[in-house]
Amino acid sequence: MKPLVAIIGKPNVGKSTFFNKISGSRISIVLDTPGVTRDRIYSDVDWLGHQFTIVDTGGIELKSTDTMHTHIVKQAELAIEVCDCILFFVDGRSELTADDFDIASLLRRSKKPVLLVVNKIDDFSTLNLCDYYGLGMGEPIPISAEQKLGLGELLDKVLEHLPSVEPVDTVENVKVAVVGKPNVGKSSLVNKLLGYDRSIVTDIAGTTRDSIDTRVTVNGKNYTLIDTAGIRRKRSIEDSTIEQYSVVRSLASIRRADVCLIVIDASSEISEQDVKIAAYCHEQGKPSVVVINKWDTIEKDSNTVNKFNNQLKADLAFMDYFIATTTSALTGQRVSKLWEQIDYVFAKANFRATTGLLNDCIGDAVSSVEPPSKAGKRLKIKYATQVSVCPPTFVIFVNTPTLMHFSYKRYLTNYLRKTFDLQGTPLRIVIRGGNEKDE
Ligand code: GDP
Ligand code: GDP
Repeated sequence: MKPLVAIIGKPNVGKSTFFNKISGSRISIVLDTPGVTRDRIYSDVDWLGHQFTIVDTGGIELKSTDTMHTHIVKQAELAIEVCDCILFFVDGRSELTADDFDIASLLRRSKKPVLLVVNKIDDFSTLNLCDYYGLGMGEPIPISAEQKLGLGELLDKVLEHLPSVEPVDTVENVKVAVVGKPNVGKSSLVNKLLGYDRSIVTDIAGTTRDSIDTRVTVNGKNYTLIDTAGIRRKRSIEDSTIEQYSVVRSLASIRRADVCLIVIDASSEISEQDVKIAAYCHEQGKPSVVVINKWDTIEKDSNTVNKFNNQLKADLAFMDYFIATTTSALTGQRVSKLWEQIDYVFAKANFRATTGLLNDCIGDAVSSVEPPSKAGKRLKIKYATQVSVCPPTFVIFVNTPTLMHFSYKRYLTNYLRKTFDLQGTPLRIVIRGGNEKDE
């Protein structure tokens, strides 16, 4: 799981300049899912073989009723809540202000590692960092985002402060994240899922985060509901109407989960934010169940479920493998069925094909639809093997990878999905060049 690193600070200190500079050549921006508009506030970073994701909280839009000060405070709270390491940016070309000191005092109360970054130091020869010690955030790190000075040193320090590994869980259990925009019924659903006849083992305080995970045993199987504190106890930022706050929070949970419950509200239209959250589950390779909650609130006729499903299929076209259930967290209708579905999609994500079966399947696919060719040269598929689970990932060796067309890759993906009945989980195909001698 990649750690999350937040960039926070007042406006104009150079956060987005920094974000954009390190999102350059060395860094691959998360592949966008077609049809999903993405806010450029995340970027995956690979520094010396270590991967993490940076979030520019400054890229979160200001709510019209928020003052700049509340906005800054909310961003800091969000960063403290969901991130593993915080880069606190200040402006090296102007005096520190009350806002800087306010952010510092919030950060000091958190247990998260914080690096104090003094930006806009375009000339290291006249360095004087005395004033910045006054923030009480430890040693200031000078950089110039614009001139790309000191960035390597900063990223080295980030690596030192990232958690090495998640605490190892000795009891085998499935980690479940309940995600969705505010007010769709996540808390109600979690309470129902944890309700009656279940033995809740304990609330486990996260060691590297402020989250609280709840363990629950259902039918002899162990599950951990992720970050239940954040769901059950409302936090100020959850009330925010700014959708990006809840998207950032969702992402943090999704990354830690084995299975995601993507909760949407049956009583309102599917929104861009619902789709974004689903897209994160998909991109992170997590199996998921779409939970159409508040089913009790809508007028139903014989066609209602179909109508809903068709709308969902259109909105979630990029994850056409999804499965969905209608629930009411209010009455409890079909909530307990979710446990079965969690097991189902988790099992699918853990699917393993034998190499023999896999190659038979690819062979069948190839004989039904001939592989593409370009300039007289035809794609030849040599051999396939499954390299991992969660999600099932297949490597297909071919004569010349550039001959693989995305539509043919999609055809193979669909063929594998159909043959092995892989509903509810993403799957991945990686194309590799084979040994040219064998041609
Ligand atoms: P943000 O609001 O914190 O995201 O700040 P921006 O990245 O938009 O930067 C604010 C201004 O500071 C812009 O005019 C940048 O060009 C400038 N700036 C950012 N980094 C540097 C730097 O390292 N040196 C100098 N001199 N200016 C910078
Ligand atoms: P969250 O913000 O996603 O955690 O949503 P909550 O669980 O706090 O629910 C938001 C509101 O919707 C509350 O007033 C709930 O009582 C209500 N609610 C949640 N689930 C249902 C449901 O299935 N049916 C109905 N009618 N109301 C629900």
